[in-house]
Amino acid sequence: MRITLRESRHMAVSDAPAQCSEGVFKCPEDQLPLDYAKIYPDPDLEQQILSLSIRCIHSEEGCRWSGQMKQLQGHFSTCAFNVIPCPNRCAIKLTRRDLPDHLQHDCPKRKVKCEFCGNEFSGEAYENHQGLCPQESVYCENKCGARMMRRLLSQHCLADCPKRTQPCKFCGKEFVYDTIQSHQYHCPRFPVQCPNQCGAPNIAREDLGSHVKEQCGSALVICPFKDAGCKHRCPKMGMTRHLEEATKVHLTMMCTLVSRQRQEITELRREVEEMSVSHDGVLIWKISDYTRKLQEAKVRNNYEFFSPPFYTHRYGYKLQVSAFLNGNGSGEGTHLSIYIRVLPGEYDTLLEWPFSYKVTFSILDQSDPSLSKPQHITETFTPDPNWKNFQKPSNSRNSLDESTLGFGYPRFISHEEIKKRNYIRDNCIFLKASVEIPQKIIA
Ligand SMILES: [Zn+2]
Ligand SMILES: [Zn+2]
Ligand SMILES: [Zn+2]
Ligand SMILES: [Zn+2]
Ligand SMILES: [Zn+2]
Ligand SMILES: [Zn+2]
Ligand SMILES: [Zn+2]
Repeated sequence: MRITLRESRHMAVSDAPAQCSEGVFKCPEDQLPLDYAKIYPDPDLEQQILSLSIRCIHSEEGCRWSGQMKQLQGHFSTCAFNVIPCPNRCAIKLTRRDLPDHLQHDCPKRKVKCEFCGNEFSGEAYENHQGLCPQESVYCENKCGARMMRRLLSQHCLADCPKRTQPCKFCGKEFVYDTIQSHQYHCPRFPVQCPNQCGAPNIAREDLGSHVKEQCGSALVICPFKDAGCKHRCPKMGMTRHLEEATKVHLTMMCTLVSRQRQEITELRREVEEMSVSHDGVLIWKISDYTRKLQEAKVRNNYEFFSPPFYTHRYGYKLQVSAFLNGNGSGEGTHLSIYIRVLPGEYDTLLEWPFSYKVTFSILDQSDPSLSKPQHITETFTPDPNWKNFQKPSNSRNSLDESTLGFGYPRFISHEEIKKRNYIRDNCIFLKASVEIPQKIIA
């Protein structure tokens, strides 16, 4: 209860005078000690004070109200700056001025009506409802352009939306619904018909090639004896029968093929041999395993060894050397005999006949040249133009023809002589034949 205090010089309006710790009272105005016995209420003065003109205590915040002090309490019930609790009991205190805004927008206990479904919500519940109202009209999130109530959206996206994705039922990949039709024109697993109408069901597009090539019984195939000359073609399933029926025909074709190939091989072998013979007019002929071969020559009379052929020069005469290790004619049993003969060559028609160039035979001394000078044994002759041996050879010559015989030395080296020095070394001998062709003929 407010009282008006009065004590000699002190006057105050207060609920109670301030009390000091020792039981002494102080004036609330000037803090000087008061004599409690002299304090008494003063109704006249109170009336005077309450009639004083004052401003609202919220004047600094902006309230323009002013009036008698006794009207202040009444003003507070309308003062825009007075702090009051929210009437919705949301536990927030705020100035009366801010209340309408709070009640409308912020108060968690406010009542809000959803504009779509018409339901009433507390502020809190409305915030949760916003964006979820099943009655709100929204656009399809697949951007198909359709707009509908939210509650219809999931069904639309599942079954109706042209922009929904769906797996291709053949390849399983996901596609936007309105492109799935055109995908099926390219889908590798889309089932297609065999172009041969073989009746195979559900061939995936990507497997068609291998089906036609490998599995399709109606595909045309070529007889495996094609290279032998069989021109038969038929559906794959008929080929077994053809192979059974045409065995004889195929066999004949194969025989022809084999003999043609054999001819080709002979031809090729001859060409290879031609290419491997030397073309420089010099033959160095190594006869290895000499002891055994000499023995063989002794057992078999007139046993003749032949050298590889060689040419006197490029496009020249084709020659061949032969040796009787146990001798023949006047050297038989005592000497090594050596001969040379002209063979039919590739270029005979381009050459001058008879062959008339100087020929040299040697047996090579295989002694180490750094220890002593090798002493080769050498014989040289120039063919006489009248000799039959060096006429142009013909392919029709028979072995009795004098012209097929070689020309040479029946007593080239004796069995005693050949054992000297190093004519035989490591059981090998080297026989050499060389032909001197004048430079102008080679060129
Ligand atoms: Zn005010
Ligand atoms: Zn509130
Ligand atoms: Zn709603
Ligand atoms: Zn849609
Ligand atoms: Zn597909
Ligand atoms: Zn087929
Ligand atoms: Zn065939």
